[in-house]
Amino acid sequence: MAANNNQEQQNQLVGHKELAHKSLLESDALYQYILETSVFPREHESLKELRQMTEKHPWNLMATPADEGQFLMMLLKLINAKNTIEIGVFTGYSLLSTALALPTDGKILALDVNREYYDLGLPIIQKAGVEHKIDFKEGPALPLLDELVKHEKNKGAYDFVFVDADKDNYLNYHKRVIELVKVGGLIGYDNTLWGGSVVAPPDAPLKDYVKHFRGHVLELNKYLANDSRIEICQLPVGDGITLCRRII
Ligand code: SAM
Ligand code: CA
Repeated sequence: MAANNNQEQQNQLVGHKELAHKSLLESDALYQYILETSVFPREHESLKELRQMTEKHPWNLMATPADEGQFLMMLLKLINAKNTIEIGVFTGYSLLSTALALPTDGKILALDVNREYYDLGLPIIQKAGVEHKIDFKEGPALPLLDELVKHEKNKGAYDFVFVDADKDNYLNYHKRVIELVKVGGLIGYDNTLWGGSVVAPPDAPLKDYVKHFRGHVLELNKYLANDSRIEICQLPVGDGITLCRRII
């Protein structure tokens, strides 16, 4: 009986996410409704192709869901973003969303420790005609950001930064990225509700990787809430995205 209850708890914490493909919404039917009514019919054909290609990848769960991609595109257009950074590319769903939303002379500095993932999506990005906006750099993001911060010309040079990589480094990224984004610009930290595990009791039966990063996500959320250099907005889109607007 106790084992059954544990299993049930586990399903509630992680099962829905797997079943519904990345949403914190309680109702799978409602999430499906959103995707089928408002997202998939408006999804760019290249994004659709990239999403469907990525669905076959064993790490597919890492990809940005289509409703979040749609949100990012709207946001980028609303703030007239031109110069952006993405930390954590994988096969490129959020990267292609960004590239499609930026103007023709827009630029994205895309950082990922693994180029092999990016290479899977690259032919689709090329076909979409937006590769010229992307400057992909392979390597751990932290030293690459340190290099950027060294040069005065990069400080305050970015309109938007999307952080979607190793969650245990988010605070380290924040310390650098806050200098790179302009005053009035935005940083988006992804997965800040971490599958809902931020409110899980200490003895909840979480998957190892969820447990491993949970403390870092909790620490980040507290830090951002207390950082007077930014205004914040925590949205339950995808796995939770925290928008930070630099004010000083
Ligand atoms: N934004 C992507 C999308 O839309 O599909 C998903 C990114 S995925 C959640 C995380 C990515 O971060 C992986 O591709 C991984 O290789 C990369 N990554 C992990 N640690 C990193 C590090 N230290 N520096 C740069 N990239 C890293
Ligand atoms: Ca993510």
